[in-house]
Amino acid sequence: MRAPSFRDRALVVRTHDFGEADRVIVLLTRGHGLVRGVAKGVRRIRSRFGSRLQPFVELDVQLHPGRNLHSITGADTVAYHGSGLIEDYTRYTCACAVLESAERLAVAESGDDPWLFDAAAATLPRLRTVIDPTVELDSFLLRAMAHAGWSPSLFDCAQCGRPGPHHAFHPASGGAVCGTCRPPGAATPDAAVLRLMWWLAHNAWPAVDAARLASERSGDGLFTDFAGQAHQLIRAHLQWHLEHRVRSLDLLDQG
Ligand SMILES: [Zn+2]
Repeated sequence: MRAPSFRDRALVVRTHDFGEADRVIVLLTRGHGLVRGVAKGVRRIRSRFGSRLQPFVELDVQLHPGRNLHSITGADTVAYHGSGLIEDYTRYTCACAVLESAERLAVAESGDDPWLFDAAAATLPRLRTVIDPTVELDSFLLRAMAHAGWSPSLFDCAQCGRPGPHHAFHPASGGAVCGTCRPPGAATPDAAVLRLMWWLAHNAWPAVDAARLASERSGDGLFTDFAGQAHQLIRAHLQWHLEHRVRSLDLLDQG
């Protein structure tokens, strides 16, 4: 017996051409995890899907399960998160990093947990308007890692539990480490960097904004410096746990 068709909310993560006129659409769905669906005839001029099936589009999608790939039998646009992003390299690359890391995290997660979809769908529109899109991305990544169960320790030593603040960070050790547990090659961030990461992991935006404002007023450049260090630690922690490079994060650092 064939599984019945189903509807779901989804973000288009990635697409690639398939056969003569078809395209495979990788979807981060709200209720079924990561789904690969084929859109038949989508590359024909008069496709019923129009231009809906492209990255950054949020859809209400109808899927028919198949043996290997699902078939996309209907799709309505809920939101296009790409407008206002494409024109700005940093904002665009941050948005790509949200989709790419969500895809990698979704592979490892069970299907019916809506958290990742909800967090990604909420973050994409914010990337258009926030002052600092990289900080917004880093907050998403920290919360996504926490949801996946491998949040970096940001205060207590990840190895022995000794209360912080500590001045060393090592992804393979679990995050912040004390002077005794710290392995060779650990990063040595300022305590303010780990504090900023803690705020980002907990959506403590008033504290983040106050720190940015104070730094801007004094012209010390410290907020930019700390945010840059935090970004590198978050990226290192994410990539160590995913055992995979996130290409958009590489591009972001080259931009
Ligand atoms: Zn320790």
